[in-house]
Amino acid sequence: MRKLPAPTPRLGRWALTLPSFLAGLFTLGLGVFLVFSYYNDRNSRSAVLEQDLLWQKQAIGLQMSNTRHELESLAATLAANGLTSADFTARTLSLVQNTPELLSLAYVDETVQTRWRTPLNPLPAEAGLAHRNLVSQRAAVLLADEPVYSMPITDTGTPLLALAVPVKLPFAGRHFLVAQFDLNRLLNQQVPWWIAQRYQVSLVRPDGSILAHKFDRRLDPGTLSQQLPLDIGPEHLQLQATVYRERGDLRQNTLLSALIGLSLLMLASTWAMRRHIRERQAAEALLRRETAMRMAMEDSLITGTRVMDLEGRLTYVNRAFCTMTGFAAEQMLAAGQLMPYWPPEELEHCLAINRQILGGETDSNGFQCRFQRSNGERFDVRIYAARLVDGEGQHIGWISSIYDITELQREREALQASHERFVAVLNGLDAAVVVSDASSGELLLANPQYYHAFRLPEEHERCCVIPLLHREQTAAQSAEWFDEFGQHWYQIKSRPSIWVDGSLVWLEIITDITALKEAQQREQQQNEQLQQTTRLISMGEMASSLAHELNQPLAAIASYATGCRNLLTQAEPNLRQLDQAIEKMAEQAKRAGLIIRGIREFVQRRAPHRAACQMHQLLATVQLLLAAQLKKQQVRLSIDCPETLPPVFADPVMLEQVVFNLMKNAIEAMSDTPVAERRLQVEAERLDGLLQITISDRGAGITDEQLEQLFKAFYTTKATGMGMGLNICRSIIEHHQGRLWVEANPGGGSRFLFTVPLSEDSNAREP
Ligand code: ADP
Repeated sequence: MRKLPAPTPRLGRWALTLPSFLAGLFTLGLGVFLVFSYYNDRNSRSAVLEQDLLWQKQAIGLQMSNTRHELESLAATLAANGLTSADFTARTLSLVQNTPELLSLAYVDETVQTRWRTPLNPLPAEAGLAHRNLVSQRAAVLLADEPVYSMPITDTGTPLLALAVPVKLPFAGRHFLVAQFDLNRLLNQQVPWWIAQRYQVSLVRPDGSILAHKFDRRLDPGTLSQQLPLDIGPEHLQLQATVYRERGDLRQNTLLSALIGLSLLMLASTWAMRRHIRERQAAEALLRRETAMRMAMEDSLITGTRVMDLEGRLTYVNRAFCTMTGFAAEQMLAAGQLMPYWPPEELEHCLAINRQILGGETDSNGFQCRFQRSNGERFDVRIYAARLVDGEGQHIGWISSIYDITELQREREALQASHERFVAVLNGLDAAVVVSDASSGELLLANPQYYHAFRLPEEHERCCVIPLLHREQTAAQSAEWFDEFGQHWYQIKSRPSIWVDGSLVWLEIITDITALKEAQQREQQQNEQLQQTTRLISMGEMASSLAHELNQPLAAIASYATGCRNLLTQAEPNLRQLDQAIEKMAEQAKRAGLIIRGIREFVQRRAPHRAACQMHQLLATVQLLLAAQLKKQQVRLSIDCPETLPPVFADPVMLEQVVFNLMKNAIEAMSDTPVAERRLQVEAERLDGLLQITISDRGAGITDEQLEQLFKAFYTTKATGMGMGLNICRSIIEHHQGRLWVEANPGGGSRFLFTVPLSEDSNAREP
């Protein structure tokens, strides 16, 4: 048995999230720091830029202002003293040579004609200074009466700026000096190296277009830039300085990008690690659950499991096997190659099985042997062995399932014994027993009596030969069947049942009732003969009474006939009286005929014929038959049978015989009763679907000993009695699905009661 290893403590949600959170925080902090230092740096650079730009503006402004003062001084000299061309050239040549940005200097008269110029030959760039410009500049100078800068001139490709200085001559119109400046040169000269190293310096118009600039081609201008107005010219040129991107910046930026990239990478890897840990934890939990489930399954198995290595030593036993043997797992695992559960007497057999298993002979039916428990008790087992292969497909031992089959074995033996008993009983029965499939009729089981009774070879017949009863019914049925071929009567008792495989079958018990049938037929014949005899005897007894009974209508007919003859002898016979007498005669003759027909039917032997018959009419007929006897015995008869009672469904003659017998017995029972008490009562009443007739007398009554014998054949207390009357009466009533019984009459004597079913029509009619 194995134990589940203790689970590694599960990392909480915070423990998993914290590294990612810290990495994120670090990246964010770094970002904030970088942004902050970037702006800080930019601000300080901007401040430096502002100072440098201001200085540069002052330097350029100073230079231009110096040149302007030089020109104003020259103009003043020209105006005061007048100069010769040679003087002019001498004075201006040094100025032009010492001021590199000053391209040329011209002395222009009032007609806008250049009188003198330095240098003498116009420079190529000077061509840009068109006459038109000069004119407009002259106008501006005249208007202002002071030096005026021109608009920047860009026609020639070289950006130029002209300065017109008025020469205020005392006697003539205004002349003026025109100085042309090359703005590129101005910047080249005036922007010192330490400024040019850091900034791209430009002269720009207010609309932003660049006029001139000084820059290092190897460097890229950055985004940090500032402008200041230069206060030269009417357009107010702007001096702009743009900071170059520093190489240090690039390195810093690369470093920063690398840092940010690394932080992001760290963040991503922490996140991935967190996910990986979570997945691992989930997988571990799943594995643990599965392992726990497997171990629980192993432990809840009721089948013993053991694992042996290739040498036959036990390496694992499950809980069920420990329970089965009673040995602890450690005991068995430490046992070596001789197992403690092998009984000494079975040692050879157990070793042989082990050798077979280790030799790879794993029988699919398993091996059966006997083991012993730790308390010495022996038990039978069946072992199924299989190769044990590890995850790499290597054969590492043998795994066996061990079933304790002791109980199974016992049950099998008990079942076998029970089956043998069952077969013995089945074969010992007189009746034939057959089980057949309910749908196909296929014979599933039959005892030898079946084959014997129907003279069938046992293997041959697969189908039931007896007639099938109404199998659509699900209740048990019983029927009698005459086998014409074998001339035998059989009683077939049939009932549906569920077969061993769960299918519906019919179980039939067939009993040979030929002997019983013959006996019944004989008994019936004897009964009929007896009835006949009884009737004849009854008739013999009644003969004198009947003679008397018939005598009455005959005597009446005779006297009516005499009367008729007397009437006819008269001269005028009274025809009305004659008619009445003849009618009476006919009535009496009819009555006599009824008596005779009743006697004939009573005596005649006939098959029962049931029909609806009225009880009051039947009682009247019997009363007629017994009239003479009642009179002779001085018995008073009272009949209470309303005509409204529904008819009964019976053979009228048989029923008459019953009533006749019971009333005759009642009359005879009262022979010793005082005449005053001789009363015979016949009552009829309806009880559900039956009519109950009660015949009460005041005779000697019936003792308890008599009660047991009364309905038996040939029981009589009379000297001339046959003892068959009551027996026949009960047969007739039972034949009509009724009941006949006797009880003591509360007023003395006894009373016989019987029931007969009402006719079906009347049942339907009655409420
Ligand atoms: P039998 O009339 O030929 O003797 P029954 O079978 O009719 O045969 O009657 C059997 C016996 O039952 C009679 O002998 C008589 O002892 C007794 N028994 C029948 N009816 C009565 C009755 N109403 N009161 C007393 N005893 C009776």
